[in-house]
Amino acid sequence: MPIPTIVHLDADAFFVSVEQALNPSLRGKKVAVGGRERGIISSASYEARACGVYTPMPTQRALKVCPDLVLVPHTAGVYGEYSRKLFDLCEQLTPYVERNSIDEGYLDVGPCGHKTAAAVEAVVRGLQQRIWDRLQITVSFGLASNKLIAAIASKLRKPRGFIVVPPGTEAAFLAPLEIGRLPGVGTKTEASLKERGIERVRDLFERPEAELRSVFGEGWRGMLAMARGEDDRVVETEHEDAKSYSQQETFGKDISDFAEIERVAKGMIDDLLPKIRADGKRVRTLTVKVRYPDFEQASAGHSLPEAVELETPFYPWIAPLLKQAWTKRRPLRLVSVKLSGVEAPQAQLEMFAEGDEKRKRLAATLDALKAARGSGAIVRGAQIKK
Ligand SMILES: [Mg+2]
Repeated sequence: MPIPTIVHLDADAFFVSVEQALNPSLRGKKVAVGGRERGIISSASYEARACGVYTPMPTQRALKVCPDLVLVPHTAGVYGEYSRKLFDLCEQLTPYVERNSIDEGYLDVGPCGHKTAAAVEAVVRGLQQRIWDRLQITVSFGLASNKLIAAIASKLRKPRGFIVVPPGTEAAFLAPLEIGRLPGVGTKTEASLKERGIERVRDLFERPEAELRSVFGEGWRGMLAMARGEDDRVVETEHEDAKSYSQQETFGKDISDFAEIERVAKGMIDDLLPKIRADGKRVRTLTVKVRYPDFEQASAGHSLPEAVELETPFYPWIAPLLKQAWTKRRPLRLVSVKLSGVEAPQAQLEMFAEGDEKRKRLAATLDALKAARGSGAIVRGAQIKK
């Protein structure tokens, strides 16, 4: 059975939720965040929405349709802080996190090694609970085989939604939904489609090609592919302004062999630096994290005197950091490596020590070979299993 591994998460009424976390007496009330004078509502609680408040809406109008609305002004800085904490919790589950707004993002849990759909669902439900426990905000989740379906699913049953769409059932999941659920179908398009009697996603399949072409133009084939639930976009972790690069490995069985764990961590550094060089970046800080089977975890980090684009300066720190983090002599479930302190490269003409220059050339050659033959082609000493 294929396993759904793509998660979309979307915080529920994010700014209001944060205000409610800071001031629980606001819970269960008609609350909105927005400016009073000539302001706009930027977030409304579900109670306020039921009263006719939506976003964006002029505050004055919101106060007319909902006279007992509790208006809370924007609190500077705090939403970004909660957003960072939210995505930090996501990164504890998987390093494959694509943040696409302050309160929305995709996760790929595929590389984490969960063997069954039930196991994946359990860890993602665990994340939803952990976000509530730590931050007291609610987040809705969609779990599916691709980004399109996960994103639609996360928005379907808010707040505190959790919808799993098993692989293979994408088209059946979409068919009965309102046509406006598809991305790219805005309110205007939706209205004109409904005039033509296209109300649900499944209605698209009953229309002749000529009509679809006249409605969607050359994009009609893409529209039908979307209506079938097809989407092959990947979760993009390392975008241009990535704040860190990370990789983790969940062990099939818990392990306690220090040399083995050190070898795994070294291999991760060997995987990450070529990506960092390919992005034209340098990194300064290495953080090693270990996790026990009961999810307790610990980490340790070290910053080099300056940012580098080579593997070798980090090697001597792997063992000491692992020892520092792995204080309990218990077997480990997971180890991860994060490289942060990302900087743009030094100016081209900057002088390098001769040894560094040689290693740089070697690294560039290795990267080119890896790219030519696929990344499995070259295995460094640290990655060879004894
Ligand atoms: Mg949201």
